[in-house]
Formats: sequence, structure tokens, C-alpha cells
Amino acid sequence: MECSSCGNVAPEGSVFCPACGKALGKQTRFPLAAGILAIIGSCLIFAFGIVSLTGAWLEFYINRQIYLHVGGPSLPFPAYFLSFGVFAIATFAFGLVAGMSAINRKFFVFSIFGVSLLTVCGILVSIPFDSSTSWEIGSPIMALSLVSAVLIARSKTEFT
Ligand SMILES: [Zn+2]
Repeated sequence: MECSSCGNVAPEGSVFCPACGKALGKQTRFPLAAGILAIIGSCLIFAFGIVSLTGAWLEFYINRQIYLHVGGPSLPFPAYFLSFGVFAIATFAFGLVAGMSAINRKFFVFSIFGVSLLTVCGILVSIPFDSSTSWEIGSPIMALSLVSAVLIARSKTEFT
């Protein structure tokens, strides 16, 4: 069979072109769909991360103003919001690159890792650590990244 990318004639039954490494045979739109879902999920977690970081900064700022003007015991630093915000932004970066890798049918293991991290982050967002829970943000992230992971796994042979 002839490689659609470089024109090299590969032995019949080859999965990849021996000359350029491109996947031979029929290509599906699964990696493209998986990549788009992962990128949408990443954008959601980015928004959540920004909200968390803003919340951490505001809480720190307000606590400090109260402490400076009213006195009293120093309130704890909002470590939860801050660490979650940083984790969410890091997950956004991984999810985004994993989504782009999937669209380009490259780095199968990294793509799976990125969307798995996105799923974990979606679960963490949904768990009520304090009184508030964010199911409305966590569940779409979980759904998008799980579907993305299934689509990537199904199209494994198309990855180079
Ligand atoms: Zn080729």
C-alpha cells in the first residue's frame, strides 16, 4: 500500500509507513473529536483555576486587612484555594497539550495521561472539601475527558 504522506510503498498490512512513520490505512475522526473535547475540558478547568486563585488572593487580602485594622488572631493562609488553583492551571496546560497531540495523532501515552489528569481534576472539583461543591463544573469536565480518553484509546493504531 502507498503512503498518503510521502508516497513510499509500504509492505501490505503495515500499520505505519516505514519511511516517514505516518499511520497507514483508514483514519477516523476520533482523535480530532477527542482533542476538541479535551481542549474544551481544559478551558473549563482553566476558568475554575482562575476563580480559585482569585478567591485565594481575595481571602488573603481581606484577612490581612482585618488583621491590620482590627487585630486579633492571624487567620490561616488560604492554602486550599491556592494549591487547587495551581493544580487546576497545571492540569489545563497538560489537557491542552494532550488535546493538541490527539488532534495531530501524536504521543498516544501522553494524550491518555493528559486526559486522565483532566478526569482526576474533574473528580476533585466535584468533591465537597468544604461546604461548597462544584458538580456543575466538575461533572462536565469528567464527562468530556472520559469520552476523550475512550476515543483516544479506540484510535490507538492511528497514533504515530
Ligand atoms: Zn510515508
